[in-house]
Amino acid sequence: MARNKTITIIFTIFLIIGAIHGLLSYSFSNFVTWLLIGLWLIFTLKIFENIKRHREFNSPQNTAFFVILPLCVGIFYSIWGFYTGVLGENLLGGVYFSLWSLIFAFPYILYGSFSLYRCFKKYNVIYFGTKAVKARTLGYLLSISVLIFILTYWITFYSAIESFPLDLNLLLLLIATILLVILFGFTNKRSSLPALTRDYIANRTRTINRLTTPRTQRQHVRTTRVTNPTPSTRATTHTTRSRTQSSRITPTSNKQTTRIKTSNTTHITRAQPTSKIQNVNKFKPRGSYLSLEDFKCIFCFKLPKLPEDRGRGVVVCPNCRYPSHSDEFKDWMRTSNLCSRCSAPIPSSFRRNPRVVSVKNYVIIYRQLLKK
Ligand SMILES: [Zn+2]
Ligand SMILES: [Zn+2]
Repeated sequence: MARNKTITIIFTIFLIIGAIHGLLSYSFSNFVTWLLIGLWLIFTLKIFENIKRHREFNSPQNTAFFVILPLCVGIFYSIWGFYTGVLGENLLGGVYFSLWSLIFAFPYILYGSFSLYRCFKKYNVIYFGTKAVKARTLGYLLSISVLIFILTYWITFYSAIESFPLDLNLLLLLIATILLVILFGFTNKRSSLPALTRDYIANRTRTINRLTTPRTQRQHVRTTRVTNPTPSTRATTHTTRSRTQSSRITPTSNKQTTRIKTSNTTHITRAQPTSKIQNVNKFKPRGSYLSLEDFKCIFCFKLPKLPEDRGRGVVVCPNCRYPSHSDEFKDWMRTSNLCSRCSAPIPSSFRRNPRVVSVKNYVIIYRQLLKK
């Protein structure tokens, strides 16, 4: 809600500025220019917001939003440099490059080229909503579209206007695209998906263990420091940990100890057909302060609820216990055996037979957990 408000405010401010400037100078292009500045600000805010959100959920930025839109914005704002009533004065001779090009177009030309690069080198697939497209194919398609568009634009204008200066931004993008296709497209053959060999998986797991271990230890020390500020915290945490691990063998462990072991052990819940919610804490995402954000799906960032999610289920990661829609979870498990949020390996028994909770029950679970 707050975000929509910001967007409306920004849009209104620039609409008013545009109207005033446009009326005073009798120029429609000035009016449009101010509107475009407003839209640019909104889009840039949105980009930052999405980057932040993707980082938070540890998910790659391989969506159409991150790959295609920046390119379009870069090209469009470069071209608008010729029509802008604001900051449009050319700074260079021979080629066109104004303050407008520098502020509004150049960052997205850079970002767009970087996205193209990632299509060829980094990503395997790009997501359009829930549909996945091969990143390489999309890279070629985008590159060809960019080349054709820029060349057509130039040829049309060259034939129409005598002294038409080349736009520096578009020139840079053209060169970058050609280089990317030559360097990473044709010459750099790579299988589109890494083969899931035993070695590959073992390697991935090792890397991830290395990455995650120090962090969980840090969290552990921090949480115990709150309750027990003596210098012997380390020793005490170790004893509690070993005690909780041994308690796994005995099924009659009390709830207190199962709560403590949250940070280090992977704990597997067997799929069992239950309609009743037995222990809500089994679904409690790891983290000290829970908010509604913690119950949003780690793939689509939407809060599971009815009636929107009728017929879908929810699966929580056995390690971090963050939720995902069961269909999206299964899709993800086709290409990875690691949790997309915490990167912990998902046990193969759980992958084959994940414990699916109905959306209706999950709503009850998170309401209860939030009340605590
Ligand atoms: Zn989802
Ligand atoms: Zn997880």
